[in-house]
Formats: sequence, C-alpha cells, structure tokens
Amino acid sequence: MTGERTYLDWNATAPLHPEAWRAVERALGVFGNPSSVHVEGRRARAMVETARDQVAALVGARTSEVVFTSGATEACNMVLASSWGAILRAGIEHDAVLKPAGASGCEIIDLRVTRDGVVDLADLAAKIRTATTTHGAKRVLLALQLANNETGVLQPLADAAAIARNAGAMVFTDAVQAAGRVPVAFGDLGVDAMAVSAHKLGGPKGVGVLILRDGVELPALIQGGGQERRRRGGTENIPGIAGFGAAAEVARQTIAERDRIAALRDRLEAGVVALTPNAEVVGATADRLANTTCVAVPGLSAETLVIRFDLAGFAISAGAACSAGKIGASSVLLAMGYAEGIARSAVRISLGPTTTDREVDRFLDAWRDIASAPHARNAAA
Ligand code: PLP
Repeated sequence: MTGERTYLDWNATAPLHPEAWRAVERALGVFGNPSSVHVEGRRARAMVETARDQVAALVGARTSEVVFTSGATEACNMVLASSWGAILRAGIEHDAVLKPAGASGCEIIDLRVTRDGVVDLADLAAKIRTATTTHGAKRVLLALQLANNETGVLQPLADAAAIARNAGAMVFTDAVQAAGRVPVAFGDLGVDAMAVSAHKLGGPKGVGVLILRDGVELPALIQGGGQERRRRGGTENIPGIAGFGAAAEVARQTIAERDRIAALRDRLEAGVVALTPNAEVVGATADRLANTTCVAVPGLSAETLVIRFDLAGFAISAGAACSAGKIGASSVLLAMGYAEGIARSAVRISLGPTTTDREVDRFLDAWRDIASAPHARNAAA
C-alpha cells in the first residue's frame, strides 16, 4: 500500500517514541542478569531501577510500589484472578478486566453507568454495602477504569474509591488510557492497585506495570524466581523496561501538550458533526481524555467506515474489537445503554502528540467523501 498515511488510532497503540527507541537500543547492549551481583548484573539492575523511578514519577507512586509485568493485561490478571468473594465492575471495562473477573468464579456485580459512560456512584454505594456484608469487606474488589479506551470518558475514581474504602473493600484501577494523558497521582486516588501499559504512551509493546500500594499483599500470578520482590517471577525484560522508563519520562514532561491535542480533537469533532448532523459524539458532556472522540452515525456501519478510511490512508478503529475480521457492536456503548444498531456504528478517532492541524483537515476532507456522501449511507448501512 502506498500514499500518505495518517495515524489516528493512538488508543490502540502509540508509535515508539525516539527516546524510548534509544533506551531500548542501549539496553540491548547490556546483557547482564539484573539478579546477578557482578558488574554485568549491576549494570542491568541499574537500568531497571532507573525505569522504575521514571514510571513511578509519571503516576505519582513510590518506587517500591512498581511491579514490572509483560503488559497491562498481566497486571489486570494479577489482581482480578486473585481469590475474591465478589468483584464489582461495569460493562465499560476492557476485556483485560472483564475476562479474568468472569473466569475467577467469584460473584460478579454489574455497576450501572449513565448514558455518558460514567459510573453511578449511588448504585456503587448500595451494591458495595450488600457485597461487603455478604462476603466480608476484605474479599470485595471494586475494579473501575480511569479512562475508557473507546470513548475517553474519565471516571470519578477518587470518589468511587472513597466509597469502596469506607465499606472496607479493595480498589483496582485500569489506568492504561489515562497514564501519560492526564496527570495521575496514585497516592492521592485512594486505590490499592493500578495497571499501566508502556505501548499506549510511546514505549515498547509487551511491558507494563502493576502499581501495588505498599503493604498490600497479592499472590504472584507468575511464579518463579523471586524477581520484583517476589511479586512477579521471571528474568526482567530489560529493553522493554528501559524503553518504558524513557517513554514515561517523555510523557511526564510533555503532558501539557494535551491542551493542543484537545483543540485539534474539538475541531475534528465539530467538523464531523457539521458534515453529518445525525452523528452523535459519545460521552460528549462527560469529562474525557483530550485525544479521544467516539462518533456514532446511525445508519452507517463502523466496519465499513474503518475499511474505507484505511483505503483512503487513515488508521481509525471501530468501537468494538474485531474477531475473525468481523466487527460487532461495541460492548462499551451497549453498557452505556445504546441500542445495538448505534453500537455497531461507532468509530473511534484517537489523536497523539504528533497529530497536526493538516492531518485533521485531511481527515475532515475524507469524512466528507466517505461518511457524509449519500453513497456511503447506501453501501454502509
Ligand atoms: N486496558 C485498557 C483500557 C486497554 O486499552 C488495553 C489495551 O488495549 C489494555 C488494558 C491491555 O494492555 P496491554 O496491551 O498492555 O496488555
């Protein structure tokens, strides 16, 4: 495939940042095992600990709270697959949370969300009271994401965590889409555990962290050597970890970029709505990430839109993950109360630090041709 490409799918993954690239290359030259006491081992250990400091600084955690993993999916599994009596979660969570929770065999309590995708705190308060009475407070977990991957909607996490902690329950947050995009202060959120992934913020794929509040004990999911203070066995992925650290450092220093990104996103959204007046911006009145827009266009198919935009040189995504090449209805939108037809029509456009004004202009030109032309309606319905 030739021609200019415009990448507007930063919530799926971000390109490797040049600083992360350099850190990965440097780490590839350091072959020691960080558990070894000799010079070679200590060089590798130093790289891991530098990255631990950098990731801790990005998310406002202590270095002792950072556990490196193979990604956020593993970090989520470490918490959700533990032996809980009940897990409270909403249908807007990522499968990395929903699947291990569902497989854990404990009681799953579904939380109500508003049509804007925000968890209903009164519903949470009532349900957590019942759950802690039934199971005992220490065996109840609230899992609530910080930001949604499809809509960008931010949750009132500190308020929800306060409700859960008052009831004596534990709190986990999937902060994958939020870290590096909004300031995150683990210590102030009142949560016990948090998952973050490197590749969403310019680091390499296959590395993430579980931030585990000092004093909270969880059985290791990956048993092996005593790495990561016995919380995650296995020789550390030094290039991945070093790249993650470098990306975290860049993200921390450039977080103010989000004002510029928000202005681009708002212009893109306004353009889309002007071209297709029946389009609905999902979660429009909620607090949202600056980089994300999720647009549902009744009568159009997300699957067709994604393919047509791809052919025209744009990477965007459907709200729902595709399986076997087929895109279904977005489970996030269904959980928000949207009808199945609308949930099948939602596309996500997500911007990043290198997105330009010109790219937004080009996208709007393409939107005019692809989504607002009458033929689009006939072919895509
Ligand atoms: N949670 C959310 C909200 C995500 O968007 C993703 C990635 O798509 C994950 C978890 C999983 O992260 P990873 O790819 O590091 O396993």
